[in-house]
Amino acid sequence: MQRNTHSPSSPSLQAFAREGLEALEAQGRRRTLTPTTRRGGGRAVRADREYISFSCNDYLGLSHHPEVIAAAREALEAYGAGAGASRLVTGNHPPYAELEMLLAEIKGEESACVFGSGYLANIGIITALAGEDDLIVADKLIHACMLDGAKLSGAKLLRFTHNDVSHARKLLEAHRGAYRRCLLLTETVFSMEGDLAPMRELRALTEEYNTWLIADDAHGLGIIPHGGYADITTGTLSKSAGSYGGYVCGKKEVMDYIKTSSRSLMFSTGLPPAAVAAATTALRIMQDSSVGAKTLKNARYFSSLLNLPVAQSAIVPVLLGDEARTLAAGTMLETHGYLASTIRPPTVPPGTSRLRFSFSALHAEADIARVASLLKKDGYA
Ligand SMILES: *Cc1c(COP(=O)(O)O)cnc(C)c1O
Repeated sequence: MQRNTHSPSSPSLQAFAREGLEALEAQGRRRTLTPTTRRGGGRAVRADREYISFSCNDYLGLSHHPEVIAAAREALEAYGAGAGASRLVTGNHPPYAELEMLLAEIKGEESACVFGSGYLANIGIITALAGEDDLIVADKLIHACMLDGAKLSGAKLLRFTHNDVSHARKLLEAHRGAYRRCLLLTETVFSMEGDLAPMRELRALTEEYNTWLIADDAHGLGIIPHGGYADITTGTLSKSAGSYGGYVCGKKEVMDYIKTSSRSLMFSTGLPPAAVAAATTALRIMQDSSVGAKTLKNARYFSSLLNLPVAQSAIVPVLLGDEARTLAAGTMLETHGYLASTIRPPTVPPGTSRLRFSFSALHAEADIARVASLLKKDGYA
């Protein structure tokens, strides 16, 4: 029988895209890219209007710090715009060594390895450490990139209720024995909740069930002290470090193995030297100042004004439940010159739509108070 190469059941590529867009539109979930010019001081400009942004992950305001910009410029002049190849070939330019030493020092670990992004770091490490005969036990709310890494690895994936150590224990008790290696995945600070993982308890679990604990510290760096409970900590240089790139850190042998076995490191070009140098300078500023404490103070000021549980990190969600109501609240704040992220399904489960506020050390108390009173005035909080 001859294969029909013009299968009528398969739409054209454009029709496929159009149908997909229409389906998203119908659900109110179609998204577009909005041109945005970020400025220092937690400000952002959209369509000629300047906003105070509570929607950036630049928690310490370091992306626009003059010393960070100067370091990037120097590296750009000295080493050029791009790395030219994978780090394993000729892309391992001089700024890398300093950054990795500093990261290891800040994290209190033996060694660190810098990847192209936080996404690539998580995918790279999970697929390097787990395969088909292995088990991955993960918090329900881990970031998409850890989840993607887990799926890509081919390991059996089980999820436990958010921060529920006894549920994680039950899963391990029932399933650990049937698998070879086992990874336990969590985030130190959860990106949509702003709450912290019970790292000490998870550590105890990993000892008991012979598993390796991997914690994504994307939202903790520079704000929440590093606990040192995980076997491997992953993170990003694109949030509090104000630049771009990702990293993992842990024991030296583990890092040496990762460097020669993570596909997302091996088969992707090294970071631009300017991004690496900027991150190094940002980390030094972070180390030498109390800027992270100011960020936390701002978040706590906001949570106290709204009678929310005391903020545990730079992230404060204001739960609104309904998608339309969340969008309306976001639009209301925008008309007053404030940007907050409207977080809806599929990023969070249905019925848990929220405004997500990311605080920066550079936010003024007056703006935080104004946002809180606007939310209260309209019955959102
Ligand atoms: C932002 C984020 C990442 C991805 O980091 P990038 O460097 O932006 O790719 C990974 N994990 C968590 C928890 C994040 O919030």
